[in-house]
Amino acid sequence: MSTFDPSPQFADSLDRIDPLSHFRSEFPLSQSCIYLDGNSLGLLSHRADESLQAILDSWRQYGVDGWSEGPNAWFDLPGKLGALMAPLVGADPDEVIVTGSTTVNLHQLVSTFYHPTPQRYKILADSLTFPSDIYALQSQLRLRGYDPEDALVQVPSRDGMTLDEDDIIQAMAEDVALIVLPSVLYVSGQWLDMPRLTATARERGILIGFDLAHSAGVMPHHLQDWGVDFAFWCTYKYLNGGPGSVGGLYVARRHFSEQPGLAGWFSSEKSVQFDMSHTLVPAPDAGEYQIGTPHLLSMAPLLGSLPMFAEAGIEAIRQKSLQASRYLMDLVSWRLAEHGFSLATPADDAKRGGHVALVHPEAVRICKALKARRVIPDYRPPQVIRLAPAPLYTSYRDLWNAVEQLRLIMEHREYEQYPRTREVIA
Ligand SMILES: *Cc1c(COP(=O)(O)O)cnc(C)c1O
Repeated sequence: MSTFDPSPQFADSLDRIDPLSHFRSEFPLSQSCIYLDGNSLGLLSHRADESLQAILDSWRQYGVDGWSEGPNAWFDLPGKLGALMAPLVGADPDEVIVTGSTTVNLHQLVSTFYHPTPQRYKILADSLTFPSDIYALQSQLRLRGYDPEDALVQVPSRDGMTLDEDDIIQAMAEDVALIVLPSVLYVSGQWLDMPRLTATARERGILIGFDLAHSAGVMPHHLQDWGVDFAFWCTYKYLNGGPGSVGGLYVARRHFSEQPGLAGWFSSEKSVQFDMSHTLVPAPDAGEYQIGTPHLLSMAPLLGSLPMFAEAGIEAIRQKSLQASRYLMDLVSWRLAEHGFSLATPADDAKRGGHVALVHPEAVRICKALKARRVIPDYRPPQVIRLAPAPLYTSYRDLWNAVEQLRLIMEHREYEQYPRTREVIA
């Protein structure tokens, strides 16, 4: 990127050479507000709208035969979508399946891969991760008769916002059976060094899995090359699958002989599923981690959305994401210098995911003032405003405009008219 220039003309010049700019018009809401919350719920695209309609049409047209007929036969859809997703995580098509949700898939994978022994029974996680992941790990430990106070190790943070990989590695002790970490921390946006953590875990004989909720669709992964044992993620953030869209999971080929911890009839090898035998023959691939009937209407938008990622290319998406988040951080430093913001997101390109975390004591009220000005951020307690440039639909001019709105809000103390109470979902 050429040297930073705080003028709006510079933003326009970046947009003119942005190779992804043509995707923006496919997302209707990006035309009427500045949407910087794609890290929480990505926007609807025309193509996702059409693919959802297509699945409804097949239901209308075929009834039950929709399972096997038409261009998008429902029975094959979880695997087909998994294959579309595989390049985004660096896996073979049969190592990925679209099923469940982030939290359900975490339960499934821990049920499968947590094999405690009296010597090795602890699960290693971190102190900054998303609460749902911790609740899932605690409940999995209780189900196996362990006390999470003893058996769940949460690596502390030195600064309350980021983790030091050395601290995580130090905690990979001989009594640890399983490690579950996020790829990108949901508040600060720090990216953890997955290759290094994975290599060390494997040297020490510990299984390691990652929650890719905040990296799937915004940066490349090389799960297979890195040697990651398993991973899981949601598809409604950067992947634009819609509210509650079905999640994804990855299991390394070397584990295909495992039995799913939580089995159901959709765990079956497809050719024998309808034999209705009481002896499960699990699918010989990631498909065995499906449980019951796939949620077709909640995966249908992905049929339209995922091809956009293939067209754009995940490397180009990452490049724009890094350039846009760098530009946003530069704007904040230049234009908001006297307004008391600090950045919690690592400045180093190699250490951050897709969003930028601004810290300010009035974060709640500032978020409300931004929304009133049609700039959509999100808030994470106690003091963080998250802003995500979504590479497919956020322009550089959007970022310039958003920071200008923020400057006006601060200059005129506009946020003071809003209460400090938190909305239930912000
Ligand atoms: C968004 C997110 C989740 C959400 O879990 P669901 O089961 O999809 O509700 C879980 N973990 C992390 C790290 C997230 O960012």
